[in-house]
Amino acid sequence: MRSPLAVLILFLCLALTQAHAVKISVLNAKPGQCPAIAPLVADLNTVQFPSDWTVYIACDAGTWQDVLRKTEVTQTDAALTVREQKLTILNSSMYTPSFSFEPYVQKTTQGVLRHELGHITCNTGSEDVADRFAHTGSCRIPPIRKTEPLSR
Ligand SMILES: [Zn+2]
Repeated sequence: MRSPLAVLILFLCLALTQAHAVKISVLNAKPGQCPAIAPLVADLNTVQFPSDWTVYIACDAGTWQDVLRKTEVTQTDAALTVREQKLTILNSSMYTPSFSFEPYVQKTTQGVLRHELGHITCNTGSEDVADRFAHTGSCRIPPIRKTEPLSR
């Protein structure tokens, strides 16, 4: 049972209990019209974005295509972050069963969010650094352990 009203109420409850958390905004739809909101809110409870950040979600394919066109981003169909404007935009289709994570390093929606958080926390445009952050929670390359040269 997932009526739009129930989703909206859930969203409002979570929004109220998260007054100091990241702002979530729906592009071109009301929150009650966007089924991805509930799982997104759940993800953002685990992957905590800065409180001054706004996470936008594009709830239909046309809106997402507009986002890609306006931001001139081409390499993703999942999410993108504009650090200068303190915003991250997600494609809601990431939250549908038909979405394929196969082309991505990250294999879950939470992984994608951690990757975007990596761009933010590490203040970098580097995909490698963002992926490292997604996997280790650290921006830095772990120190290389010195190994003895092989000898015969
Ligand atoms: Zn990235």
